[in-house]
Amino acid sequence: MSKRVRETGIGIDLGTTYSCVAAWFDQHNRVEIIPNQQGNKTTPSCVAWDGTNILIGEPAMNQISRNSKNTVFDVKRLMGSRFDDSRVQEDIKSWPFEVNEGCGKKPMVVFRHDSQEKKFSPEEISSMILKNLKDAAKAYLGTTVTNAVITVPAYFIDQQRQATKDAGKLAGLNVMRLVSEPTSAAIAYGLDKSTNMNFPKEKTFLIFDMGGGTFDVSLLNISKSGVISVIAVGGDTHLGGEDFDKAMVNYCVQVFNKKEKKDVSKNARALMRLKLACEKAKRDLSSTTHTTIDIDFLHEGIDFSMTFSRAKFEELNANFFNICIKHVENCLSDGNVHKKDVDDVVIVGGSTRIPKVQQMLTEFFDGKPLCRSINADEAVAYGAAVLAANLLSNGNEKVQDLVLLDVTPLSLGIWVEVKDTHEDDMSVVIPRNTPIPTTRERNYNTRYDNQETMVIKVFQGESGKTKENIFLNSFRLYGIPAAPAREQKINVCFNIDANGILIVSAEVKSNGSKNCIKIDKTGTLSNRW
Ligand code: AMP
Repeated sequence: MSKRVRETGIGIDLGTTYSCVAAWFDQHNRVEIIPNQQGNKTTPSCVAWDGTNILIGEPAMNQISRNSKNTVFDVKRLMGSRFDDSRVQEDIKSWPFEVNEGCGKKPMVVFRHDSQEKKFSPEEISSMILKNLKDAAKAYLGTTVTNAVITVPAYFIDQQRQATKDAGKLAGLNVMRLVSEPTSAAIAYGLDKSTNMNFPKEKTFLIFDMGGGTFDVSLLNISKSGVISVIAVGGDTHLGGEDFDKAMVNYCVQVFNKKEKKDVSKNARALMRLKLACEKAKRDLSSTTHTTIDIDFLHEGIDFSMTFSRAKFEELNANFFNICIKHVENCLSDGNVHKKDVDDVVIVGGSTRIPKVQQMLTEFFDGKPLCRSINADEAVAYGAAVLAANLLSNGNEKVQDLVLLDVTPLSLGIWVEVKDTHEDDMSVVIPRNTPIPTTRERNYNTRYDNQETMVIKVFQGESGKTKENIFLNSFRLYGIPAAPAREQKINVCFNIDANGILIVSAEVKSNGSKNCIKIDKTGTLSNRW
C-alpha cells in the first residue's frame, strides 16, 4: 500500500518589523525555522517599489535610505484600521512613505515614481510579505505549500484579524487558524518543556512578548497532559521597539539642532538614516553601556556624531517601561492570579533583550529568574508551525496531543434600540478573557408601539459608553410584527470562532425573522500585483 504523502503546513509570524516562517519536519521530528532567500531566519516586514520592481524583505530594507518614500514598513499598524483613526494619523506623521484615504476610509499606501503611481491596501502589502515567506518555504520544503497558521497580537481586534486572514488569502494561503502571538510562544515553550521533562504539576506562566511594534502579555496554564489554556491577555498594539527608536531619534534631532543651529526634523532622508542608526545603537546598548552614532553628511553637508549611553536610553523610555509593568499587573488582576503563583515568566520578542526591561520584570516578580529557553525571534513562528502540524494531523504524539484553549482579548457588546437604553450605553455580551470558541445570547424587547425594525450596533472595548469603545459594525433587523412597545422579543446571538472572528445574529422570537453580520473586513479584496 502506498504511503499517503502528507501536506506540510507552515507557521508564520507576521511581525511589525520582522517576519518568520517555520514548519514541522516529519523526517527530523521537530520544527525548523525556514531561511529566506538571503539565508536569514527572519525577514524584514518591508516592501518597496523601485519604479520597475516590487522588492520584498531584505532587498527592500537595503534600499530604504535611498528610496524612503517608496518603501513601506510597519504596515501591520494599518491592518484593519481606519484612515481617520487617531493612532493611524499619528503613525502617518512619523513615516516617510505616503498613506492616503481610500474607499470606505481604508488607508492606502501610495508609491510614486515619475508620473506613475501605485496604490496598495495594507492587506495587499502584507500579502506580498506572506507570499515571500510562502515561496521561501516552498523552496526549502520542495513541495507546494498552501496551509498556514498565522499569528496576530493577542490584542488585535476583530477587523485586524479579518484583514490578516484576507492578506493570507491574497497570498494564496489557506489560513487554517489565526493564533495570538503569546499563545503561539506558549505552545513553543510548552512543547519545549514537555519534550525535555515531565510536568510534575500544572503550571501557570506569564508570557511577556515585546517586539518592534506591539506588546502582548498573557497568562496561561499548561496541564500535565498538555492542555494549554489562556487565562487572560493584555497589552498594547502600539507599543514596542519602534517607540524606543523614535524617542532616540527625537533626542538626536534635538542634539543636532541645538549644536548646529539647524532644523533636521523636516529632512525625511536624514530622519530615516537616524532611525536606522538609532535602532542599531539601541541593540548595542543591550550589551554595552555606551555606544556612538556616526552619520556622515546628515543634513546640509554636516556630519553627526554623538555618544549614546544606556542610562540616557533608559531615561528617554522610562515611561514606556513603566506602562509595560502596568499591563502585567492588569493581566494578573484580570486573571485573578497573584504574582507569587506564576511559576515561570517567559520573555519573547526582540525588545525583551533590553536589560532594563528584564530588570524591571525580575524586580516585579520579586527576583524570579526569567525564562529565555526559546529563541525570542523564532518562538512565535515555532508555535504556529506546531499548531499547523496539529491541525493537519502531522507530527509526533506531543504535537497531536496539543489542545489549545484561547480567550477573547476585549469585551464585545451592543447598543440596541430598546426602552431605557441611553444613546451611548454599551451592553456587554461577551466579557473580555472569555474562552473561545463561544456563543452567548441576549434577549431584548421592542421599544416603540408597532416597531417594525431594530438597529443593532456592535462594539468592542471596556468602557460602559459606546463612544469610548471601538465601533465594529451595525445592522438592522426587519420583519418585527406590529405590537405594543416591549411585547416583541428579540434574541441577539454572538458567536466567536476559534480564530476570534465574530458573527452577530438577531432573531424575532415570534416569527423567526432573522438577520446577521459577520464582523466584516474593512474593504474589498483585490488581486492586482
Ligand atoms: P521582533 O518583532 O520580535 O523581531 O522584535 C523586533 C524588535 O526588537 C525591533 O524593534 C528591534 O529593534 C528589537 N531588538 C532586536 N534585538 C534587540 C536587542 N538586542 N536589544 C534591543 N532591542 C532589540
